[in-house]
Amino acid sequence: MTLLLEQERRLICRFGRKLIEDRLIRGTSGNLSLLDRLTGLVAISPSGLDYLKMTPDDIVVVDLDGRVQDGTRKPSSELPLHRVLYQNRADIAAVVHTHSTFSTVLSCLGWDLPAVHYMLTPAGENVRCSRYATFGSAALAENALEAMTDRHAVLLANHGLVAAGPDLAAAYATAAETEFCAELYWRSRCVGQPNILDHTEMEKMAILFKSYGQK
Ligand code: 13P
Ligand code: ZN
Repeated sequence: MTLLLEQERRLICRFGRKLIEDRLIRGTSGNLSLLDRLTGLVAISPSGLDYLKMTPDDIVVVDLDGRVQDGTRKPSSELPLHRVLYQNRADIAAVVHTHSTFSTVLSCLGWDLPAVHYMLTPAGENVRCSRYATFGSAALAENALEAMTDRHAVLLANHGLVAAGPDLAAAYATAAETEFCAELYWRSRCVGQPNILDHTEMEKMAILFKSYGQK
């Protein structure tokens, strides 16, 4: 028997495992989801389940109003965050949330992450830190949406990182590269004042990134 959104469920399991392997999350923290715009259904990781033991059956399928359509597990507590991004951003069909160390350090300081390296480009010209709200709350979702305006990533105050994109591979890469830039920023701030790429240079990067790599 085939599962509803089977491919999407498999991708969530695969990238969840990768989040652990790449040390972007630990334990059961973080979550990820994928939207199928044709059906308006979202496949999302279950709440508090070990990523290394997760199978496609554990992934929950919900509609954009958050009603469970398939799956026996409780969906991620950050479902309101994932839903608000899909409902308000046509450019987003995948969301990855991590508690990766250096992004979380900056979020505890309430700092925005500036363009310390051109690999921040997929996330945006900088990554803002949103206002604080409790995990899983509608307020956290609204604050994140606001701070993510014109960006594909946001720091959640005293909490972690959210990255988004048109597919899971893109959202994942943005999360990983944003974490890399957060580490560079933190480490360089420990010994001095890093130089920051200016608006003109980051605009140039945005154009270069469109044709970077293989077709
Ligand atoms: P879930 O396990 O419910 O997805 O929660 C993890 C988390 O990071 C909450 O912000
Ligand atoms: Zn979290």
